[in-house]
Amino acid sequence: MERRRFLKVVGTGAFGLAAGRLIPTFDPLFAGSLPQTPKYWAWVTRQFNPSVDGWKRHFALMRESGVNAILPEIYDSRHAFFESSHLPVSEDRLAKILPLAKAEGLEVHAWMWSMPCNVEEVVKDHPEWFVVNRKGESATEKPAYVPYYKFLCPSQPGAQEFVRTTVKELSQIDGLAGVHFDYIRFPDVILPIGLQPKYGIVQDREYPEYDYCYCPVCRRDFEQETGTDPLKLADPAESDAWRQFRYARVRHLVNDILIPVVHEHKKLATAAVFPNWENVRQQWSTWHLDAALPMLYHKFYSKEIDWIGEQTKLQVERMQNHAPIYSGIFASHFNSDEMPQAVETALKAGASGVALFASPLMREEHWEAFAKATKVK
Ligand SMILES: [Zn+2]
Repeated sequence: MERRRFLKVVGTGAFGLAAGRLIPTFDPLFAGSLPQTPKYWAWVTRQFNPSVDGWKRHFALMRESGVNAILPEIYDSRHAFFESSHLPVSEDRLAKILPLAKAEGLEVHAWMWSMPCNVEEVVKDHPEWFVVNRKGESATEKPAYVPYYKFLCPSQPGAQEFVRTTVKELSQIDGLAGVHFDYIRFPDVILPIGLQPKYGIVQDREYPEYDYCYCPVCRRDFEQETGTDPLKLADPAESDAWRQFRYARVRHLVNDILIPVVHEHKKLATAAVFPNWENVRQQWSTWHLDAALPMLYHKFYSKEIDWIGEQTKLQVERMQNHAPIYSGIFASHFNSDEMPQAVETALKAGASGVALFASPLMREEHWEAFAKATKVK
């Protein structure tokens, strides 16, 4: 412990270069310096809602096991679990857990769903804010895969403002370390290979019912930029311009509309992101994040643990602002023996730490194995 603390103090003195990487210029306040010791995160799913004593025990266990930062799910596209004035509030769970987490020395980052919106009044009053697929079907009426896949369109000003309002409300909460964007993307045009059987589908190419967004605003803006209506493209999947347009739409929302609000309130902006980012139009390597938490849930991609390292390495190299990468791992995909191997693989590949999905899925033997892994210097 003493040695780690010492390294941390020495490490924070470095300026200009951190671990051989250039500090980006866009936001000197937060990004740019990689942590000197690994940092460990854990998502906390909304279904986990014990008594105050239960929370205390859970946070103590996390802290003892090496977790530094928690990501409680406080907006699930339907209900807010914080004091919101524009979303239906289920309970102010965030206010309850903030002091308890703080007592254990845990950072708290508010995990919010970004683009899906299942707030009934919004769906009813503003159907035009939602994405439309290549068949002309709105996600409000024919959501892809599952009923909750009602995504807002990042091109729609009303949708942008709706998401920004949630981010602003969260950014203003005292004691919160950051805002964590989840589902900050389009619906999957192609699902990860390991998940397709679950939905009984084979996606060997981009099919129109899963391909978004062809709403009037996206069509108009793309036509203004390129002279072509995307609906008239012979093969939209082959159009680099159309793909780039959609990456840029999400990037604009993240970089120009949401992150500035978070930073204005001196908080960290992080996101849960995809390794197969092309399929969700999420070019997150170009975002101004303070940290990225790629969801490297290997079994969904029919891969082995080594793949976590391969993906981590790729993403560390790709991240344009050189912000830290925390490899997200899916607890239920491991037996306890494999947990330390996953952590080690990620760190060796250049991750600044690991993020656990999710703390309620961790069994006792998982925590024990994780604790051992996090104590390795
Ligand atoms: Zn659109």
